[in-house]
Amino acid sequence: MRILVVEDEEKLAGILLRSLRGEGYAVDAASTVAEGLEMAQATHYDLVILDLQLPDGSGTRLLTSLRGHHQDAPVLVLTARADLDTKVENFDAGADDYLTKPFAFAELLVRVRALLRRGPVAKSSTLKVGDVELDRLTRQVRRDGQRVDLSPKEYSLLEYLMLNPGRVLSRSMIVERVWDHSFEGLTNIVDVYVRQLRRKIDDGSEPKLIRTIRGVGYTIDTEGGA
Ligand code: CA
Repeated sequence: MRILVVEDEEKLAGILLRSLRGEGYAVDAASTVAEGLEMAQATHYDLVILDLQLPDGSGTRLLTSLRGHHQDAPVLVLTARADLDTKVENFDAGADDYLTKPFAFAELLVRVRALLRRGPVAKSSTLKVGDVELDRLTRQVRRDGQRVDLSPKEYSLLEYLMLNPGRVLSRSMIVERVWDHSFEGLTNIVDVYVRQLRRKIDDGSEPKLIRTIRGVGYTIDTEGGA
């Protein structure tokens, strides 16, 4: 297992390198965004440990660039900045885990092991049915290239449909998957949400992708429906 550590604080980088090597990992070190990017493009890594505040810019830039080049190594972000916005921004950019400095080394090792066990991240985060694209990383949805704004529940409903193209999903399957156990309403909530989703996805576009299967439920496919 080969790990790339991108960290500019020499002392911390030294400790990381020694400890990870002590665990038997092959470890390379970079101290800037540019250096990290160059190394990640030249070598296949099983894991990248990434500091956010680097001398030539933000680690987030490196992360975005890696994912843009389809580098699928899991990325563990290390930073002193623990605010929620920073976390959200980095998970959106494709981070797999997050550790706030200062951290216990034992915890870092546990996370490293978990990420290595999980293996490469999915090559593509995008689901596609017809000209509808759903990016599971950024939670953005587009139809024919045009951005469609969905509420979180509408998004979850569309994601579930798009994970099962052509398969008929019953109302109770949808309720079980999209709503959680605290939901005790009727399954006709599904009809309400499908109607809203159709308005945003299918109104004004052809073919209509979301189909009603009378008496059963719903499906999404490219054959056109009503
Ligand atoms: Ca730093």
